[in-house]
Amino acid sequence: MSRSVKPACLHPRLLPWFDRGETDFQRCADCGLVLRVPMPTAAQLDAIYAALYGGEQIRSGRTNQESGSFALEQYANHLVAHELKPGMRLLDYGCGSGALLEMLRQRGVDAIGLETSAGARAFCREQRGFDVHAALDEVAPASVDLITMIEVIEHLIDPHAVLEQVRTRLKPGGRLFVTTPNRRSLRARLDGGHWREATKKFHVVLFDDSSLARLLEATGFGPLRHLRYSPVQRPGAARWLFSRAQQALGLAGTLCFVAGNPG
Ligand SMILES: [Zn+2]
Repeated sequence: MSRSVKPACLHPRLLPWFDRGETDFQRCADCGLVLRVPMPTAAQLDAIYAALYGGEQIRSGRTNQESGSFALEQYANHLVAHELKPGMRLLDYGCGSGALLEMLRQRGVDAIGLETSAGARAFCREQRGFDVHAALDEVAPASVDLITMIEVIEHLIDPHAVLEQVRTRLKPGGRLFVTTPNRRSLRARLDGGHWREATKKFHVVLFDDSSLARLLEATGFGPLRHLRYSPVQRPGAARWLFSRAQQALGLAGTLCFVAGNPG
């Protein structure tokens, strides 16, 4: 079992995962991460993104990478109501063209971004006027109160290394707000290797609640809060009940954790 680049976890035992559809995923027997094997190289991922991050999409302020604006509005409202206090500084890791940053600014939040795509970064800086970094080493250590990673970690070749670095950018007592598709969701179970989130070729790591918690703890975060939180809660009692039931059973589509930096 060869792994061409530094893997997302360093455990040796990998087991086949999907038997149809995306059959290049394997599950780590030790930590439960489901990884693409071989993991694409950074250059291969860049080629996938280059096709998605077309100039037209960036100029219009939208890319295929970003969550829908309804979900981002829900996150912005949640962050302002529950995770932020006045004067706190937020960094959105993987900010894309800056949709969430814009919503947070409208709500009075001091927010900066980090984006590895040069095109999206330029849009976010030039059209939206945000302070956007290309890499974490441009961000001063212990300078941020809250870091958001909305549907980002499933894209990372080495989430372990990134999360370790993310934590150092947080002030002691600062928090990481992280969301990712749930590989144990009802949809994922029904669709197997044809699950929409698995078929996105830039998704290279798939998480469930325990593997995400384990990764956060392994990278020094704690305490953890698993939010039973649905970002796309639309109105209607029946929808609300179905959503709550899915959340209670661990079958919801999105995992959401708040992880503290003990300092
Ligand atoms: Zn592992």
